[in-house]
Amino acid sequence: MDSQSTEIAVVGGGIVGICCALELAETGLKVLLIDRDDPGQGASYGNAGVISPWSSVPQSLPGVWQHIPKWLVKSDGPIAIKPSYLFKLAPWALRFLWQSRLHRTREISTAMKVLNQNNVDLFKALLDGTGHEDLVRDSYYVHAYRNEKQADLNSLEYAIRRDHGAELEKIGRQELRLLEPALSGDFESAILIKGQARSLSPGKLGQVLMDKFINLGGQFVKSEVEHFQRDAKGKWVIKTGQEIIHADRIVLSLGAWSKKLLKPLGIDVPLEAERGYHLEFQNPGIELNHSVMDVDVKIVASSMSGGLRAAGTAEFAGLDAPPNMKRIESLHTSVKRMLPDLNTSGFSHWMGTRPSLPDSLPCIGQVARHPGLYVAFGHSHYGLMMAPKTGEIIKNLVTGNPPNIDLSPYRVERFLN
Ligand SMILES: Cc1cc2nc3c(=O)[nH]c(=O)nc-3n(C[C@H](O)[C@H](O)[C@H](O)COP(=O)(O)OP(=O)(O)OC[C@H]3O[C@@H](n4cnc5c(N)ncnc54)[C@H](O)[C@@H]3O)c2cc1C
Repeated sequence: MDSQSTEIAVVGGGIVGICCALELAETGLKVLLIDRDDPGQGASYGNAGVISPWSSVPQSLPGVWQHIPKWLVKSDGPIAIKPSYLFKLAPWALRFLWQSRLHRTREISTAMKVLNQNNVDLFKALLDGTGHEDLVRDSYYVHAYRNEKQADLNSLEYAIRRDHGAELEKIGRQELRLLEPALSGDFESAILIKGQARSLSPGKLGQVLMDKFINLGGQFVKSEVEHFQRDAKGKWVIKTGQEIIHADRIVLSLGAWSKKLLKPLGIDVPLEAERGYHLEFQNPGIELNHSVMDVDVKIVASSMSGGLRAAGTAEFAGLDAPPNMKRIESLHTSVKRMLPDLNTSGFSHWMGTRPSLPDSLPCIGQVARHPGLYVAFGHSHYGLMMAPKTGEIIKNLVTGNPPNIDLSPYRVERFLN
């Protein structure tokens, strides 16, 4: 079997792995990125493209348990659980609900803020000089409400954003119509979150940054990683489907697949595949000016370079279950309700897996008991927007310049006994 050596192997080429590899390559280190697919084609391909410095609101908020039953019974509700998966999900779900205490919400949101801060500027800096600077466009996040009373600027999720410096504004039906004429007239109100951006093509964004990595001398191996372990000399030995790769250090960034490869090392993390879907309408006949969320069903729509994309839903069915056509149908119905003039002839559908940990925070950092092993996974709903900062932190750790931030909330050891 062929073999090769590198200083750093980045295992997993989603947007998180790409940003880590690029940051490391920029320091002059010899970096090799491994993915079984073309990079950026996992969850990082099909997301909603929201890049927000203000998305520091965890999924498990106080009172979330009250909403879950009604979300679950609605066929177009934002959450679905495959009945046969319920039992398997239960331990993760309990840990998730345990995080909904107010003091945890505050702690988690502070840690999220650190990863999201300046994300728009960081993306722009990464894209600078690539000729594809237009892939990230400044925009608002429009949270659209059918019931004006629910658009409450004083609710916890907006208070957190405001405390973190976001500029928010509540608008009424008329102003919303002027801002987003394609939205249904059913929406009475919206809350605008300003000072953020959206990607016009998350898949292309990954490709462009990958090209930049290659131009810097980075290497790419397209192969499935089967396992990895340390040899007697302390080097990491990575076995892929076609070769053995020896690396001084490894950055593990396999998104939802990270659990599987960490388990043989005695690192068992409560990582769930939180599946989401998108529909992309190639000839939509309408245009959105911003990222727009229909708050009732938590679907985010955005005009992208490939058409109008509507993305959302959180489905728990395990890592390997096939796409659920019922979710696609209900997503279609919801989008049509949100955007009545949308031309729905000609669309593609996609399913991807968010790598979700119960506390909505990723694992980032060096693994204590395994010298030379760094992790960067578990970014759940926020992986696109948190990727540049994750890459920067990993670069600083690998090069021996620990960043001046508290990394304890992201330690993988928080889940280990
Ligand atoms: C519907 C939806 C909407 C979303 N919207 C947003 C949004 O608007 N903004 C935002 O910030 N985030 C959003 N997210 C979340 C975001 O997409 C993810 O958090 C992010 O893409 C995770 O990136 P990653 O690099 O960790 O994982 P991935 O992109 O999944 O990459 C993991 C990589 O590992 C590779 N791999 C797996 N196993 C192996 C193996 N054994 N050997 C080799 N390679 C392997 C895969 O091929 C893949 O390329 C959304 C997600 C979904 C599903």
